[in-house]
Amino acid sequence: MNSHRKNSPHFYEELYPSFEKRNKKKNNRDERRKKDHCEPERQFRCGNCGAIVSTDRELVGVNNRNHCPNCLWSKHVDDLRAGDRCSGCGARMRPLGLTVKKVHKKYAVNEEGELMLIHSCIRCGKIFINRIAADDSTGALIALYHEAGQITDEILEKLAGQDIHLLAAGDLTTVFSQLFGWQAILDMFEEENQSIRSEEAFVEQSQLED
Ligand SMILES: [Zn+2]
Ligand SMILES: [Zn+2]
Repeated sequence: MNSHRKNSPHFYEELYPSFEKRNKKKNNRDERRKKDHCEPERQFRCGNCGAIVSTDRELVGVNNRNHCPNCLWSKHVDDLRAGDRCSGCGARMRPLGLTVKKVHKKYAVNEEGELMLIHSCIRCGKIFINRIAADDSTGALIALYHEAGQITDEILEKLAGQDIHLLAAGDLTTVFSQLFGWQAILDMFEEENQSIRSEEAFVEQSQLED
């Protein structure tokens, strides 16, 4: 090995070509990794009411925040699964109502699932069910539940075709227990009972006075 070659800037590259290649490969891999795990958008503007909506997971409690917490409208961005962002439609999705997610467990057939929102695209008619986020307006959710009676038979049939049961009159306990917890319902009954008891006591008292 002569000293002239040793002084060449490419001496070590020539001597260890695999080292250089390995390094390059690693850098490409790091770049790809960065791309795959890019930061999701932290907020978006609602296409229906114009509210700025945070997608911060810490705040909303779900991974794929896709609807507005104020008006509950969404945008058609997913194709097959929630969060795949593969649809090119991009139209607004109207909240249709509430449903509970079916739980398919071997030994617990009738177990009640999570309360979900049903969305329907105003352009292509695609229907999705979506998780409710922690900051969704409770008032808007209850109002939506009460509007279930206005859903047309055509849409009900479409929902049934996708095995989605729209919560309607008669499902109030389900909606309230999921939104407020069972304790709130028990407290509500307790308050009612107390007022009945005090009314009865009042009647008894007035009968005694007569
Ligand atoms: Zn909105
Ligand atoms: Zn669509």
